[in-house]
Amino acid sequence: MNNDSAEELNKSQSDPAQEKAKSDSEWREELDPEQFHVLREKGTERAFTGKYWDLKDAGTYRCAACGEPLFSSDTKYDSGSGWPSFYQPADAASVKELADHSHGMIRTEVTCAKCDSHLGHVFPDGPPQTGLRYCVNSASLDFEKQEEGDAE
Ligand SMILES: [Zn+2]
Repeated sequence: MNNDSAEELNKSQSDPAQEKAKSDSEWREELDPEQFHVLREKGTERAFTGKYWDLKDAGTYRCAACGEPLFSSDTKYDSGSGWPSFYQPADAASVKELADHSHGMIRTEVTCAKCDSHLGHVFPDGPPQTGLRYCVNSASLDFEKQEEGDAE
């Protein structure tokens, strides 16, 4: 009996479609309360309070919910907003952009293409490279520092 249920668990974890099918209670178990609020309830952390807005280390920012690589430190810049800001995603296919008319504003929401979790918004006031500012919550990201010697 126990072996059977362990096998079921492994099967469901290797199923790529499974990420989107998670229920709120499953996400609640995996994420801390702030991550759950931001990623699954489209919350926004307060400016200058997140763990990554001022981080300048080289590495990869992954989705805090599913681990998909979303942004590279190479495209991170200091926007002065108090949120991690990037001028482009690691891969155009790794994020989705959706019209967001909440809070009386017309904005473009950015979500993880793999698990549909909320990341932040994209604004047309970015640096010259793309003219875009991906304004992302630290709570939506999981930073993986580049190891010494990985650069070459
Ligand atoms: Zn994700």
